[in-house]
Amino acid sequence: MKNFKHIYSLSGGQDSTAMTVRALELGLPVDYIIFCDTGNEFPEMYDYLYALDTWLLKKYGIGITRLRSKDTLETLCFSPFTKGKRKGIIRGVPYASSMSFCTRELKKNISRNFAKKVDGAYMYLGYVARERHRMHEATEQYIFNKYPLIDWEWNEDNVSAYLKEMGIYNSLYDHFTRTGCMFCPKQTLASWKALYAHFPQQYKIAQSWEHKAKELNAHIKTFRSDYSLDDLAFRFERELQKEKNDKQIKFSFDWNEENVSCFCK
Ligand code: SF4
Repeated sequence: MKNFKHIYSLSGGQDSTAMTVRALELGLPVDYIIFCDTGNEFPEMYDYLYALDTWLLKKYGIGITRLRSKDTLETLCFSPFTKGKRKGIIRGVPYASSMSFCTRELKKNISRNFAKKVDGAYMYLGYVARERHRMHEATEQYIFNKYPLIDWEWNEDNVSAYLKEMGIYNSLYDHFTRTGCMFCPKQTLASWKALYAHFPQQYKIAQSWEHKAKELNAHIKTFRSDYSLDDLAFRFERELQKEKNDKQIKFSFDWNEENVSCFCK
């Protein structure tokens, strides 16, 4: 127990970043800052993590330890199940509900193995105060989970303001309220729409994954159970066009209003 290390799990998202930086600022013990790379982060996230790593090293003398499985999200999706009743069937995209194979194999197992290698750990997780209900004990004897943001009563507003104040705000949050893998099936419709609107190349790649999953008759063929990304692309395009038109209509309305108002009143 005395050798347990303090490991901060950092995804690059605002919650885990604020948790880690605040702990360092408070002078709390931080032995490792680990980032589990799924190979499916936004290019902007990799750039952010690179900049953050440099900043952390300079300011606190500790950098980010990047951990990676031999697989990426993509290789996992297009490889077969290796056991159970689906053995031999291509997995396809991850499940949208419950813990999917991606979380287990690309994040949980990787960080767990790291904690085991360093003789056990307090694992610090960036859940905000309103996520208190998600707190859980680690199932391994050599890991104790800790939730500093919950202890500090910090929610999204606090972490966002804190990162802005520290000058390390992640600009992906200009488009998304949460971050994670680009093609995470757990993201909301609004998040898929932001991907479509602001990262069209990545959206196309996500569509191609669904096409491939269908061709291979994979277990899960679409990221969402209600719509395919092709269906959504059609819907998003119409919505975005309408939003653009509404703005133009509003503009012409304002213009007309200005014309009818009296300058001398
Ligand atoms: S962010 Fe989403 S896709 Fe990535 S590992 Fe987690 S659940 Fe899977």
